[in-house]
Amino acid sequence: MDEKINDNNLNNCDECKTEYFAHSSLMKGLCPECAHILYGYDRCDHQFESGRCIKCHWNGNSSDYIEELKKPGQSKNE
Ligand SMILES: [Zn+2]
Ligand SMILES: [Zn+2]
Repeated sequence: MDEKINDNNLNNCDECKTEYFAHSSLMKGLCPECAHILYGYDRCDHQFESGRCIKCHWNGNSSDYIEELKKPGQSKNE
């Protein structure tokens, strides 16, 4: 077993369970996508190659909760 650890440290997002580059998110434990949706942080300008964003390593997954929040035209403030 010789697992190489490269410079791009990967974290697992607590919300969507996707691996992402630790340095790409301002929030510990959340990928840039979830951090944006949940907390309004700057989102990654995703650039997908082979199913993964080359900038943050996000694979496009999101949790059900995130999907709900992303749905357009829904307002909780009725
Ligand atoms: Zn996430
Ligand atoms: Zn990205």
